[in-house]
Amino acid sequence: MSLLTVEGVWKNFGDHSVLRGIDLEVRPHEVVSLIGASGSGKSTLLRCVNLLETVDDGTIHLDGEEITDPRVKVDDVRKRLGIVFQAFNLFPHMTVLDNITLAPRQVHGAGRAQAEEQAFGLLARFGLGDKARAYPDQLSGGQQQRVAIVRAMATQPRLLLLDEVTSALDPELVVEVLGVIRELKGSGMTMILTTHEMSFCRDISDTVCFLDGGVLLEKGPPEKIFTEPEHTRTQEFLRSVL
Ligand code: ADP
Ligand code: MG
Repeated sequence: MSLLTVEGVWKNFGDHSVLRGIDLEVRPHEVVSLIGASGSGKSTLLRCVNLLETVDDGTIHLDGEEITDPRVKVDDVRKRLGIVFQAFNLFPHMTVLDNITLAPRQVHGAGRAQAEEQAFGLLARFGLGDKARAYPDQLSGGQQQRVAIVRAMATQPRLLLLDEVTSALDPELVVEVLGVIRELKGSGMTMILTTHEMSFCRDISDTVCFLDGGVLLEKGPPEKIFTEPEHTRTQEFLRSVL
């Protein structure tokens, strides 16, 4: 049974159809990458899954429940999802520990001691054990983004959405963030990610989806997409980025 099922999803902004009938299934523990040119609809698709956008047609099911049903409580759906964006969105006036424990305490009703114990565990696991009391501006960009991922994991999401989480980083800091994602995959985390790091995408993905003008043109295992893509558009895109 799939964890996430996207069926026939359309999203329009005015008369511009940004997603044009997207079908996508994500199985438990699967890592799915969305690739495609800037403006092809990758972020919009992730935002639809997280209900930051409402779809104009089609359905999205999470764990068998239709989350695009207007009667669904958005907060209940978001509790089951983690999302991390390109720019680190840590709260600057809060310590790393408070950033991480905020949602578990306020949204999930965890007690302080329990939330902090879990946060310390996650920080240690991702090599940030000594940063709990630091403020975001005392950390490198790579460390901030690792904290942002830890924060998303603190609510134990069913599915983690990562939108170009390395794009704002200097090249030498990218590798540490990719290491975190690799570790999450090792632990069986289900993820959908968008990335411009093609070698990483090839290495980590179970399934790669190529989006072109809001159409999911082609999907398959990375060996297939990267070595023998079926569509000329996919070939052109890969030639332009590899
Ligand atoms: P990608 O992440 O692949 O670069 P996006 O999903 O961000 O692409 O954008 C897809 C298209 O949708 C682009 O043409 C973008 O300009 C447009 N778009 C995204 N968000 C909005 C919005 N809130 N209002 C109008 N157009 C938008
Ligand atoms: Mg984007």
